[in-house]
Amino acid sequence: MQNNPYSWIESSLSTIHKANWYRSVKTVESLPGAIIKLEGKRLINFASNDYLGLAGDERLIAAAIEATKEFGTGSTGSRLLTGHREIHQELEQEIAKLKQTEAALVFSSGYLANIGVISSVINQRDLILSDEYNHSSLKNGAILSGGKIVEYSHNNIEYLKNKLEQERENYRRSLIITDSVFSMDGDLCKLPLLLDLAEKYNSMLLVDEAHATGVLGINGGGCVEHFNCTGKQLIQIGTLSKALGSLGGYVAGSKNLIEFFRNRTPTWIYTTGLTPADTAAALTAIKIIKKEPERRLKLWQNVEIIRNLLETEDRLFDRGKKISNYESPIICFPLKNSAEALKVGEKLKQAGIFAPAIRPPTVNTSRIRISLMSTHEKSHFQQLIAALING
Ligand SMILES: *Cc1c(COP(=O)(O)O)cnc(C)c1O
Repeated sequence: MQNNPYSWIESSLSTIHKANWYRSVKTVESLPGAIIKLEGKRLINFASNDYLGLAGDERLIAAAIEATKEFGTGSTGSRLLTGHREIHQELEQEIAKLKQTEAALVFSSGYLANIGVISSVINQRDLILSDEYNHSSLKNGAILSGGKIVEYSHNNIEYLKNKLEQERENYRRSLIITDSVFSMDGDLCKLPLLLDLAEKYNSMLLVDEAHATGVLGINGGGCVEHFNCTGKQLIQIGTLSKALGSLGGYVAGSKNLIEFFRNRTPTWIYTTGLTPADTAAALTAIKIIKKEPERRLKLWQNVEIIRNLLETEDRLFDRGKKISNYESPIICFPLKNSAEALKVGEKLKQAGIFAPAIRPPTVNTSRIRISLMSTHEKSHFQQLIAALING
């Protein structure tokens, strides 16, 4: 086998298995929601990004069907050629309104938005400062850009400031990149302090609002709105695939910035426009988010309900150890290692709960990560906690 150029794959897979890092897909056999059917089993779902329960909403489904009937299944080309429809523009205007920016641009996914945007504003002569807990798409966007990457310890503003002080003057442009809600930990970035530093060191700032859009802020505008930072100059990224229940990503910012991306960002220029169905579903989701703030309120009530349940429950894990600061609907239960996390995940599944183990390399330390939805009920949380205690 010495001259089989693919033989390394088998040994790589075996290493993955040995470390308990192996991943495989599980088939969902129902509409998305707080309860799903997963491989024949009815489970309470704590693994969804569908925070507001919109991915299975009749109105999104109807909008997607209608748009498909009117415009077809595919958009047939890139946006600059045959792939542009009026609903794309409408969606971009609605995103800009939600984010209170001058303009917005939609991509085929949030991942593509991040790698495209970061690599088109930064190159070899420039500096990127990146939180160590950032999402993979931010990290890979930084690598693709060819800029000098400085990773700062999680939310460590003092460290970031020192790095800017040391490094900024050696580079042309500078960009700070951060999740706004950290996807695997559920805490928030320190946006006002980041904006101050960005201003002081003449640096751009990009925040990824993937888990914040529709969830945080009085109108669902995200962390930027939550921190009263709307109107500040920054680059806002997000996804249509989480609280908006569809598929796609976006960047929002000044008119000039968006015009620049339309002319310079390869992951937007050289790829097919969003399908009519995805576009119409996202557009409908934004309208619902505006019309029905009670969905967001219910989600935050659920955060409070589980907080109360967990804080009065001292049989769970390390007593006194802080599980979460409840800044978002994402809550993590830290566990010793991958094997332990897998074991707890499996036990939860047997107890009727889907809350999978999150392991390296996604995160440094293994955990059970749950995300709440506005459609969860108190009894769901009680069952989760009972199962965690018995696990
Ligand atoms: C999910 C996620 C993305 C990717 O968005 P997709 O639209 O699913 O590609 C980007 N950034 C963060 C922080 C995310 O959680």
